Amino acid sequence: MGGLISPEGALCLSCGKRRGLVSGLPLCPACAGELVRAERQRGTLCPRCKSVLPPGRPCRFCGRDPEGLLRESFAPYRYRGVPRALALTLKFRGDTRAAALLAPAMARSLKAPDYDALVPVPLSAQRLWERDYNQARELAELVGHLAGIPVRDFLVRPKKTARQTDQHSLRGRVQNVAGAFAAAPGADCAGKRILLVDDVRTTGATALSCARVLREAGAEAVDLLTACIAPGLVRGRARPTGKRFRIGKKG
Ligand SMILES: [Zn+2]
Ligand SMILES: [Zn+2]
Repeated sequence: MGGLISPEGALCLSCGKRRGLVSGLPLCPACAGELVRAERQRGTLCPRCKSVLPPGRPCRFCGRDPEGLLRESFAPYRYRGVPRALALTLKFRGDTRAAALLAPAMARSLKAPDYDALVPVPLSAQRLWERDYNQARELAELVGHLAGIPVRDFLVRPKKTARQTDQHSLRGRVQNVAGAFAAAPGADCAGKRILLVDDVRTTGATALSCARVLREAGAEAVDLLTACIAPGLVRGRARPTGKRFRIGKKG
């Protein structure tokens, strides 16, 4: 990391405190250091989907994908601390500096970048209009640039669904996104190796719903890349997200 600068009024993008920032980054030294360490923090992970494995138990995420719709998943961070703050800043404030901080580690987490297309998880037209940007697409553009893979909008989201973060059961999450996605008109998925891109994977219901559409449209393989993996359902309830993170919605 470079030296410190202390511009007047500069706020750390993660902790929001007015501190000296690391040169060239919108982060204070403490948060910048935590972001570097977070990429190295690895528990015992499922080799296929990178979920933290419960001791002595099979992977719950892979158990939800018996058809093998997703071949493999990649994510550099757990959904906590600085990576979580950056994911929330990107999603709810549309601050693309957060995407620029997350994308390099996402590109590094890939085993081999031999994909034909990066496909962002789409927002519904209404939500895109409300929010004005799609955080998954921001991340896909940056990763695509770093890894030399084209971004293709092969998916659309014809109907507006309730927010996944408002669904507090696995069944609710699966039902909420069932049939929510469709292949975009003219999407040429046949025989393609596709990397699906999203900001956070929680239960994986969204990713599996997207992977099903892409496979049915002829994709040869679908992998998933997210910035973070959330711990998912804890005793049948999705862990609340973003409660402590006060945000001002745009528009
Ligand atoms: Zn900070
Ligand atoms: Zn797994």
